Parts: sequence; C-alpha cells; structure tokens
Amino acid sequence: MQHDFPLTLHHVLDRMRTLNADAEVVTLRTAEGTRTRATFAEVAARVDLLAGALQVRGIGEGDRVGTFAWNSQEHIELYLAIPCIGSVLHTLNIRLFPEQLAYVANHARDRVIFVDDSLVPILEKVAPLLETVELFVVIGDGPTGALEPVVRYDDLLAEATPVQAYPQIDERAAAALCYTSGTTGNPKGVLYSHRSTLLHSMAAGLADTFGVNRSDRILPIVPQFHANAWGLIYAAGLFGASLIQPGRFLQAEPLVALIESEKVTFAAAVPTIWMDILNHLDAHPDADVSSIRLAPCGGAAVPPALMKALEERHGVEILHAWGMTETSPLGVVARPPADAVGDARWSAKSSQGRPVPLVELRIVDEEGVVQPWDGVAAGEMQVRGPWIASGYYLNDESADRFDQGWLRTGDVASVDPQGYVRISDRSKDIIKSGGEWVSSVELENELMAHDAVREAAVIAIPDERYTERPLACVVLHEGRAATVNELRDHLVGRVAKWWIPESFAFVAEVPKTSVGKFDKKVLRQQLTDGELSVQRYDTAAQQVSL
Ligand code: ADP
Repeated sequence: MQHDFPLTLHHVLDRMRTLNADAEVVTLRTAEGTRTRATFAEVAARVDLLAGALQVRGIGEGDRVGTFAWNSQEHIELYLAIPCIGSVLHTLNIRLFPEQLAYVANHARDRVIFVDDSLVPILEKVAPLLETVELFVVIGDGPTGALEPVVRYDDLLAEATPVQAYPQIDERAAAALCYTSGTTGNPKGVLYSHRSTLLHSMAAGLADTFGVNRSDRILPIVPQFHANAWGLIYAAGLFGASLIQPGRFLQAEPLVALIESEKVTFAAAVPTIWMDILNHLDAHPDADVSSIRLAPCGGAAVPPALMKALEERHGVEILHAWGMTETSPLGVVARPPADAVGDARWSAKSSQGRPVPLVELRIVDEEGVVQPWDGVAAGEMQVRGPWIASGYYLNDESADRFDQGWLRTGDVASVDPQGYVRISDRSKDIIKSGGEWVSSVELENELMAHDAVREAAVIAIPDERYTERPLACVVLHEGRAATVNELRDHLVGRVAKWWIPESFAFVAEVPKTSVGKFDKKVLRQQLTDGELSVQRYDTAAQQVSL
C-alpha cells in the first residue's frame, strides 16, 4: 500500500515556493501597458502573509471568502491563501446583475470580500444587501467608496506576519465555490474539494489535453471568476508555467500586445474573444503571435470557420474543449488523431472532443435509454468523475440534474465510434421543426463560414405548420452586405434542405451572457417583444436553387 498522501492545494503552493520558484506572474496594470512582475517564490511569500492576515482576523476552516476581481497577481495569491488556511475561495462573477450578486454572496455566507478598486463602484451598490460580509478588502489604491468596514490589500499584507503553519486539511474538504452564471433561474453553487482541484490540475498537464508544462507562458483570458479560469492557475502553479494576467484589459488590442511582448505560448478564451482577436489580426498583419503553441477555446461551440481562419491566416492553433462550471471545467478535449489530415483533421477539431481520463460519459435519450456511440444516436450528454459535481451547494431543488453520480449536462450530443462528442444544442435551445430536431449549433457554424457574417445565433420562431422553424439572427462584418437570398444559397449543400431558415433578422450584435456567450434567452425575449425586425423569405414568390 502507498502512503495516503493528502491531495490538497498545499502541494501546489509548495511547488511554487521551491521547484517552480523561478516561474513568474506578470500583471497588466494600465491601458498604456504598465506591468508588474513577481516570481512564484515572491508570490508564495505574499501568500504566507495573506494567510497570516486572514487567520489573525479569525478567518479559518470552512469560512467562505469572496473575490470580486479581474485576473491579477493578487487574485492568484487569493486562489492559494484562502484554500490553504482551510477557508473556501468563492469567486464572484463581476458581471452578475445586482440581485443575483447579492443572492450568491448571501447564499454562500461570505464573511470577507476582496474587490479590485476598479470594481468598487459596482460592489458598493450591492453592499447594503449583503447580510454576512464583515470586511471588504480593496485591491489597488483607488477610492474605497461606500464600502465599510474596509481595509486595503497592501496594508493588510504590510501589517501581517506570515502564517506559522498551514492547517492540515482533509483532501475532501471544500477549497473553492463557484456559482453557475445562471442562464436559467438563480445561480447554483458548485463546491470543489482540494482533491478534485488537484486531480483536475494534473489532467491539465496531460499531452492529450492542454499539456501545461514549465516552458509555457499562459495567458488566461478566461476570467478567474468563470469556472476557475479553466483550472489554469493551479495547473501553472503545479507544473511551473508562468502566468500572464491581463487584468481588465480584455480587448483584442491589449491582448495581442501582451501576447507579442510576453511571448505567450498558451492563451485560453471563449469564442467571442477569439473572434475579436481574429478581426484585430486581420487588420494588423504585422502583429507577431507566433509564440502561441496552443489556444484552448470553449464555453460555447467554436465555429470551424473561426478555427481555420486563425490557423491558416495567423498560425494560431485552436484546441476546442467542452466543460461546465459543474465539471471544474475540463471534460472533453478535441485533439485530432495523429494521422488525421485535411477534412478529417478539421472534423475532429471541430467536434467537442473525447472525454479526458477520469471523466466518464454517456448519451441518454428522452426515455432514459443509453445510446450507442455510432455518431448518429443523439440524446442528453451525462458525465461523472472525480472532478464532476454530484450535487449543488445547499440546493435541493436541482436534485433532478443528477442521476446516481451522473451529471445531466443539458447538452444534446452524439458520440462517434472513436469517442468524439458532437453537441448539436443545449436542451433549452432546441428547435423542433415538424417533429425533427434542427441543430442550431450547426446552422450557426455554417452561417459564420460566410465571409460577410461576423456572428450568427439561431433560435426557434413559432410556425403554424411546423410548430417551430429556425430564425437566424445575423451580425454582418462592418462595411459588408449580404441578402437573405445569398445566405440561404450559401447554406444549400451545407445543411439539410429543410433546416435552411426562411426567417432572418439582421442585428447590430448578438446579446452576450456575463461570460461572453450568445444569450439566446435575451434574443427569444426580443422576438416575443417584437424588437427583432424579421425578414421572411417567401418561398412561393421567390426561388433559390435548392
Ligand atoms: P452557463 O450554463 O451559465 O453558460 P457554464 O459556463 O457552466 O455556465 O456553461 C456550460 C455550458 O456551456 C455547457 O453545458 C454547454 O452548453 C456550453 N459549452 C461549453 N463548452 C462548449 C463547447 N465546446 N461546445 C458547445 N457548448 C459548450
């Protein structure tokens, strides 16, 4: 038998202090490009101070400590200090509506909230609604506003003595808490244990997933308040990859400047951010992003046209991945087979991918029957594993989202015989036309392959004959034009004939959720409220070559 070594985040902190001492954390601080730099050894020493400061204030095992912050060195320090003293790191989504934010902080019973000075104006409005917060800590030297009682992060550290000894923690104790972004109903909390977080970090180092390693310089564009920045902070600490933190500067221009000057090897973001970066690179052909070895992208289906354009025009290889807050989030990653070339390679890369080791996956139809992996049979994707949630934090209403350890993802998918998963929709976005499913994801991908189309989101529109038909909401590139007929012609041969929408709405932008995904709930509401100007292609009066 082996030593029963506790799988806690102390191990990550220890490696940052010792083996990975030379790796660095760079934080972009101003729009002009000012940065701060610190080695992992320096960061670890500050973590000890922060841990000491929290302990002196009576924060200890099981207490929830919130963060309301962009990606920065301080946020990394919080990621380590809070779990290592046995408290629970609660990352608050800075883009939640005020009522949701208050709900989440009250539900979690946060005792302290750390907040970036740039975000004080948002938090102070919610502060009167917070029932359990005893202290606000402001990061940076901007105004502290109406927050009370308040202390500054730098003062907290300056007055602190380093923690003497970190408590021993059960590996199954909670390390972090993150609420889903709440596209339906109130946000639901997902607790991560030390063990699940450490195992998940190990998975990020596998060659068939992200392959995080010591030569990496990782730019987590995905915020630390969105599913733990996809586990990249802890993976970097464990493996010794440097972290380049973009702060609040998530626009294409500063991001590309950071990639160039910091020789970033690995940059992770949702598709909408990569679309912005692509547009920027197209407009600035001299930008040098050749240091990037891999660009993980997920959170929503990645349009293949986006992947191809980034790779073929700018040498940036996208790695498509699927995950949820509930899955820590690494679940499925699309590495193509080594011998796949041309269309076969793109086909594998545009699927969501294969389940990563320790994640089990099944497809279940509406009658509860497990489906074969034949690339055709579709149903709800269900997953389980050591870093997949088995329930929500203090929430009994959502018990039906779990089935004997299996998480019901709400994503509709098929799996091919090689284990590549293809998601056609979220169950709440499904379009059922004449009793058959139309895949909105596939329609969107094909529409976005048209070179005048910048974004496309497809929702259902009521139809007398077929109950529902697809409505394509399309954003065109600046200065470009396309007619409904052109777009319909473009779809011919790319999707089943009867999927081709008759209804189109040209919109200025697709509404986005707090983490940058297409917000179809808002689009559906705009449709109901008559705010979308829908153009209908009249199949009787006009002919396209179908
Ligand atoms: P929310 O449910 O509020 O959007 P999450 O960030 O946890 O919060 O979202 C998880 C969901 O995002 C998944 O259930 C899935 O529908 C979608 N998703 C994530 N990655 C992908 C992907 N690569 N392809 C398609 N959908 C994805």
